[in-house]
Amino acid sequence: MLNIQAIKKDFPLFEHEKNLVYLDSAATTLKPRVVIEAEKEYLERYSANIARGLYPLAEKATKKFEMVREKVATFIGAESAREIIFTSGTTDALNLVARLLTSQLAAGDTIITTVMEHHSNFLPWKELAKKNVLDFRVIPLTEEGTIDIEILKKSVDEHTKIVALSAISNVLGTINPVKKITTLIKNINPNTIVIIDTAQAVSHMPINVSEWNADFVAFSGHKMFGPTGVGVLYGKLSLLETLPPVSFGGGMVLDSCADETLYKEAPYRFEAGTPNIGGIIALGTAIDYMESIGMENIQTHEHALTLSALKRLQETFGENIHIIGSTHPEKRSGIIAFTLGGIHPHDIASVLGEYNICVRAGEHCTTPLHRSLGLHTTTRISFSIYNSEGDINKLITILEEIQTIFNK
Ligand code: PMP
Repeated sequence: MLNIQAIKKDFPLFEHEKNLVYLDSAATTLKPRVVIEAEKEYLERYSANIARGLYPLAEKATKKFEMVREKVATFIGAESAREIIFTSGTTDALNLVARLLTSQLAAGDTIITTVMEHHSNFLPWKELAKKNVLDFRVIPLTEEGTIDIEILKKSVDEHTKIVALSAISNVLGTINPVKKITTLIKNINPNTIVIIDTAQAVSHMPINVSEWNADFVAFSGHKMFGPTGVGVLYGKLSLLETLPPVSFGGGMVLDSCADETLYKEAPYRFEAGTPNIGGIIALGTAIDYMESIGMENIQTHEHALTLSALKRLQETFGENIHIIGSTHPEKRSGIIAFTLGGIHPHDIASVLGEYNICVRAGEHCTTPLHRSLGLHTTTRISFSIYNSEGDINKLITILEEIQTIFNK
């Protein structure tokens, strides 16, 4: 059991917004004080550049920065810190993989993704396929709201170069069986590169990329209690070592005077230019913070809230509420998207907003998914460690009011 009152005290926003009910952690999590302090400490006390200066402040910044690389590697079960590339977020990480893999493509290759993907894990593949005139396949959902594994099985063959899918859908909350899917794909074609968008999983469940046997994994700092503008691309070292860099500049070169420029080894060859140093140092603190609570405790807490919210919403609104996503609560994370009667999700979110209840309304950057379900927009709530049953009570009370007002 998490002590929610104590956890809320870790987040300064709750001091400034006394009656805040924050149900939009899938968009971005709130930031604990320790993370804010870590970034501030870098900016105030040792804001030197990394990997360049030879004076103590620069050495301190470099050491702290590289310690985060080690910490991220351990946190996600990578075999080596050399498999961790810092990016500006999930979107940047996925676009980087798409550019890195351009050199690996050949005529006749196929790229596969799924209909539940966020635009960030859909458009880079659609564009890559288009640019290289490759076959682009989109795996549909089963009626239960999960990836249709039978169709996936039939779609993977000797031509499949890339399969990209999410660990958890940002709308359906579906937890995809990543290890099972990766094994299935690699059994059919061991050369297929499997890419996992972990943006919605990384702060909600323990992750082990080595067990998944994924080739690339992407996530954002701001969805795991860290700052915006930082993210991670994990890549299997054996694969990274074969890939040429695609961005060029400072910090990634060994010798640029010869005809052939000599680049640093992975991951540095993929990190041209000065990164968001303070943000990445604070990301390390965010990992410490999550680990102090325990990833399994976080998962248990959010799961209990999800089961309770699903039950309460169904009991209160009956046939008027349409909850999308897996019909198996056990396969869901703390994300619930729904429609309520004929009320526009923007109206629902605006009225809830007047009570300082923050939810998301729209397509949540998943147009293919919404269209496949015959929907334009939905309202989405999402849980994190600072949410409680009290938040669900407040949400339901105001949703009932909204239903009454709009049905008059
Ligand atoms: N993938 C998923 C599943 C997401 O939920 C998000 C953010 N909503 C992204 C990718 C993109 O993340 P970012 O905007 O931090 O790059």
